[in-house]
Amino acid sequence: MTQNAPAGLPDRIRHFIDGESVDSVGGEEFDVLDPTSNEVYIRAAAGQAADIDRAVAAARRAFAEGPWPRMLPRERSRILHRVADIVESRDARLAELESFDSGLPITQARGQARRAAENFRFFADLIVAQHDDAFQVPGRQMNYVNRKPIGVAGLITPWNTPFMLESWKLGPALATGNTVVLKPAEFTPLSASLWAEIFREAGVPDGVFNLVNGRGEEAGDALVKHPDVPLISFTGESRTGQIIFANAAPHLKGLSMELGGKSPAIVFADADLDAALDATVFGVFSLNGERCTAGSRILVQRGIYDEFVERYAERARNVVVGPPSDPATEVGALVHPEHYEKVMGYVEIGKGEGRLVAGGGRPEGFPTGNYVAPTVFADVAPGARIFQEEIFGPVVAITPFDTDEEALALANDTKYGLAAYIWTSDLKRSHNFAQQVEAGMVWLNSNNVRDLRTPFGGVKASGLGHEGGYRSIDFYTDQQAVHVTL
Ligand code: NAD
Repeated sequence: MTQNAPAGLPDRIRHFIDGESVDSVGGEEFDVLDPTSNEVYIRAAAGQAADIDRAVAAARRAFAEGPWPRMLPRERSRILHRVADIVESRDARLAELESFDSGLPITQARGQARRAAENFRFFADLIVAQHDDAFQVPGRQMNYVNRKPIGVAGLITPWNTPFMLESWKLGPALATGNTVVLKPAEFTPLSASLWAEIFREAGVPDGVFNLVNGRGEEAGDALVKHPDVPLISFTGESRTGQIIFANAAPHLKGLSMELGGKSPAIVFADADLDAALDATVFGVFSLNGERCTAGSRILVQRGIYDEFVERYAERARNVVVGPPSDPATEVGALVHPEHYEKVMGYVEIGKGEGRLVAGGGRPEGFPTGNYVAPTVFADVAPGARIFQEEIFGPVVAITPFDTDEEALALANDTKYGLAAYIWTSDLKRSHNFAQQVEAGMVWLNSNNVRDLRTPFGGVKASGLGHEGGYRSIDFYTDQQAVHVTL
């Protein structure tokens, strides 16, 4: 085992099915790597179709026969509040595991438990406060909506902020009375193993929460194709989303998809430049740049372009790259050598497509591990691959523009449409631009801070449907209309 591993790790990572920790039926396992050394630090059960069958059968039983879908909302809400309190109390341990397994800086991994806990509190409160439509035709008819959980929800999640993203799906799926099978990302299975203990301690009945580890093409694929799983909520790459879409089609499954992004940050000449610089540096280099809503294309108005590029590059050079466990670190190690190769590939492509003004490869002093220096390319043309394709690392493309029309055309000139960030002191321009930009979420003169009640999701190749707030409740429930003649 690698010497960096936190104390108290299990001897291996197992599935959690029907209230029990179990290995794969056939004993299959896969290696999990420490991103700072790429040494194997643990092995995890590699779920196959037989394991998914077991987990789905348990979840189906718990749905058909167990108390969970039949509880009063208040009862489920109480249990989910306990889940939230336990999650929050584990913040330090979660941060330690998450940072170690994913390579995220420890300071950015802290606080993720609080946000995950808030997701549970939000949905625990919402199901109690929720009211549905009722309409009357006086003396003739009354009509009301009977909202029902759907069944077994398949939840498939990525490796960036794994625990927090799992909470986004677990919170609403469980609050509405469904039972679940979670398939976490194979690069980072460690923190997901905390859920089993948390749900058990909080009093969630056996079979309601099931977890199957494994590769996407095996465990994930089997979950998507399972006939007894009517819902799939997926977060990951757009390409994977397309495959899942096709595989779910024969069963006409409900799909919620949070996919990739190549989000623009548009900085007009009248912007508060210091605030825009701070936010755009944070926007692409926090979470190692492995952030779906990263502002990875910065469009800057010509009048301030040279100054912006110079000051941005200087800040990027000062971003502290270091071991994920060091509190001084601002960019840690990328999650996995495969992903590191992909990001480094784009850095090399970028050298032929733009003007390199910061970074450009492996930082000095880090001979091993998946470290990439914060990298900035200026003068990037819209046809460039580093302008069009999601890199998902600490790499940013800066492009000049002259007019509002040109800024909008550049902002919309990719297949993605997840987020957009607009920096200007002109109120009218900011709202008009926000309403025209092709993005599911827009931040005006703001860092990426989100109220949990708002919908989260993308347009175009960035997704289908929304997570968060009432939209999640709609995805995880059937809304049956009942009509009564009086
Ligand atoms: P990925 O698509 O490679 O994998 C995501 C999950 O899907 C993993 O659990 C994986 O095992 C599984 N999977 C892979 N192939 C599958 C298949 N054929 N059938 C079923 N499941 C399969 O994505 P990733 O590399 O883990 O995550 C990074 C991507 O996620 C980026 O594109 C990022 O933008 C996106 N992301 C989006 C959001 C959002 O909310 N929009 C949030 C975080 C990450």
